[in-house]
Amino acid sequence: MEHNWRIETKLIQEGYKPGNGEPRVLPIYQSTTYKYDSTEHVAKLFDLEVPGHMYSRISNPTVEALENKIAALEGGVGALCTSSGQSASMVAMLNLCEAGDHFIALNTIYGGTYNLFAITFKKLGVEVSFVSPDATKEEVEKLIKPNTKAIFGETIANPALVVLDIAYWSEIAHSYGIPLVVDNTFATPYLCRPFEHGADIVTHSTTKYMDGHATSVGGVIVDSGKFDYTNGKFKGFTEPDDSYHGLTYTKAFGNAAYITKARVQFIRDMGNCMSPQNAFLTHLGLETLHLRMERHSENALKVAQFLKNHPKVESVSYPLLEGDSQYEKAKKYLPEGASGVISFSIKGSREDAVAFMDHLKLAAIVVHVADARTAVLHPASSTHRQMSDKELEAAGISPTMIRLSIGIENVLDIIEDLEEAFTYSN
Ligand SMILES: *Cc1c(COP(=O)(O)O)cnc(C)c1O
Repeated sequence: MEHNWRIETKLIQEGYKPGNGEPRVLPIYQSTTYKYDSTEHVAKLFDLEVPGHMYSRISNPTVEALENKIAALEGGVGALCTSSGQSASMVAMLNLCEAGDHFIALNTIYGGTYNLFAITFKKLGVEVSFVSPDATKEEVEKLIKPNTKAIFGETIANPALVVLDIAYWSEIAHSYGIPLVVDNTFATPYLCRPFEHGADIVTHSTTKYMDGHATSVGGVIVDSGKFDYTNGKFKGFTEPDDSYHGLTYTKAFGNAAYITKARVQFIRDMGNCMSPQNAFLTHLGLETLHLRMERHSENALKVAQFLKNHPKVESVSYPLLEGDSQYEKAKKYLPEGASGVISFSIKGSREDAVAFMDHLKLAAIVVHVADARTAVLHPASSTHRQMSDKELEAAGISPTMIRLSIGIENVLDIIEDLEEAFTYSN
């Protein structure tokens, strides 16, 4: 039966649905393998003629429950969990592009994704052009070639906090017969559902707010089921796959062709699957996502307002802060909240940024964002250190920029901690 539950209810009820007498809570199926009654059944599984689990590299009941929950949250036809967010980005794009292909990515994307696309994909023969989020339609169109297979952006860019105009980018992508892929990590499906604005594929680092407690590295890809891969540009979907006796994905799986191919071809071959243990923890984390995102967003807005009025602060970025360059887009795409991530530049030099950070007591220096605890990071000397000053500038990052990930503690304690650390800068 199809429910039309609201997102808070889906977070609790979707995914694992126990039958009569079964465990109330999602069990961890810590099993690599599955048992069958006949060799014929196994043969049919391997030919993808019947659904079912073959081997936990390809699918597992605990991981599947998480996939079903996330697909329901985003409003997609299916989801595929991966070993990390990086894996999700890699598989999402290689499922569309082969050597000799090209795609476009927004230049504000996460540093790890930037490395993957700009350096590692280049070695694999997939070329990526980076474009400003403010690019005009004409500027984007100049970059689109016959071998261009997708456009990739982040709902809230990490750490520049630029909000993606999803409707604008999906319109350009669709006018060229290519899908828009959106990394929705910071927003989470509680704050934004990119499919409702025209995106075709969504990815996440589940390591962040979905887990929410910093216990499990993971990723997920979600398929909207709305993109037409039979338009002649995507041969991998419409021509026979020799590794399955000539099966054709669009014919065999209809509107779930994209996500099925990602699973039975890429995860089967490359092996970057999520473990049942991590799926369990992520599934558990999701049960409180709505409560956490509400508090993260509320606390972050208060901290952003505090920083805006602070004499030692040069500038603050928080999409829902009135006067922010992203405010109008945030009102449209993130009306309920803009997550817990704030970036600001401290007055003075790189050394002032470091002095401030080293005197924080509650906010911890960690290479992580988006969990329950308040954390702080200096992108120029960590996540983005591979970028030149010019590339940093293009991505909207200054040498004195500090990224704060506001937790769900009492906001007064967070503000007092920041206030005290400011006394140590310049
Ligand atoms: C962290 C992050 C990733 C990479 O995810 P991992 O789980 O660390 O591999 C990708 N995109 C965004 C926006 C992220 O914040």
